[in-house]
Amino acid sequence: MPSERAAASALLPCVLEQRLIDHHCHGVLREGGDLETLLTEGDGGAAAGGTAYDSLAGLAFRRMCPPVLGLPPHAPLAEYAARRSSLGAAEVSGRFLAAAGLGALCLDTGFQPRALLSPAEMGALAGAPAYEVVRLEQVGEDVGAVGVSAYAFADAFRTALEERAAAAGPRVVAVKSIAAYRVGLGLGAERPPDAEVAAAAGRWMRGGTGNGSGGSGAPPRLADETLHRFFIWCGADLGLPVQFHVGYGDRDIDLHRCNPLLLTGLLRALEPSGVPVMLLHNYPYHREAGYLAQVFPHVHADLGLATHNLGDRASGVLAEALELVPLRKFLYSSDAFGLPELYYLSASLFRRGLSDFLRARLDAGDWTEADAVRVTGLIGAENARRVYGLGA
Ligand SMILES: [Zn+2]
Repeated sequence: MPSERAAASALLPCVLEQRLIDHHCHGVLREGGDLETLLTEGDGGAAAGGTAYDSLAGLAFRRMCPPVLGLPPHAPLAEYAARRSSLGAAEVSGRFLAAAGLGALCLDTGFQPRALLSPAEMGALAGAPAYEVVRLEQVGEDVGAVGVSAYAFADAFRTALEERAAAAGPRVVAVKSIAAYRVGLGLGAERPPDAEVAAAAGRWMRGGTGNGSGGSGAPPRLADETLHRFFIWCGADLGLPVQFHVGYGDRDIDLHRCNPLLLTGLLRALEPSGVPVMLLHNYPYHREAGYLAQVFPHVHADLGLATHNLGDRASGVLAEALELVPLRKFLYSSDAFGLPELYYLSASLFRRGLSDFLRARLDAGDWTEADAVRVTGLIGAENARRVYGLGA
């Protein structure tokens, strides 16, 4: 009964119609990029003689993406690649961004900014307002690169961050910490005094933090627990929500140091500031993140990046992520980077997961239709609007 099967798997109308606010993503690569290397966080099994398409992410890609380019689902990859290049990068990006059905985008501009489309260009493609998320470590590395003294670093950083937050252009709605990538999430709780920041900045600029050498005279890659923690407190001082990379990411992270429970002391210390803390990605610690969002009033969580990497398992893991988290504190994000397909794939798998989650409760008579509509609105857009103060 194909029609019944299709009906059973169709999205709930409230989910289908909901424009999603993507509260953490990056730009599309200006020059295009390699489909396979951008699809997952690793080599896709290439070293084992395979391809990235031999994964749940790859199979979801092949099912969902070809129709956006006018091809049947599961179209052969060679045909897909040919269609993609005949349409051209601008057309392909426009189709996938429009098909994602986004209500707004909050773009992290701190990673490879020159290679990516700007927030304004991304907003135009998506037909939605675009906002900026400032990566704290990028501001710190920029300040270090202009050669301030270690003693002047704390003040110079505060000034630079204030200027970035107030700069003309897309409104800055949050800051983001990638401490997870550099030192892990076992951060101290207290705001470091300026004297400690100066000592840490001196170690970093002299290349003494043990994380590689600058060589060219520029400071080495920033990876110093005191400095990451200082940046976070400076972001909170500006009253901006602080996004944290948590859990899953590429092989630069030590995943065992990215459990959000390691942030517990810092979360406690930040609570009186009233600044929202946004735990991003979280997989495979999505249940831990839900717990933290339940017990700390300022903590929020999402499942970005994992959504498209999990393919058809996104529905099951989304249900796990929603077990404990207050429904007013869970948000949608794609964490898409580079490849236009990822904005669409992530939004599609998220909609499917949310629809499956709601339908199971409607069918069991546990939730009313009104509950399903309300929760879709909260998770899909209203929670992000409230936290980031976005317009209606
Ligand atoms: Zn990201």
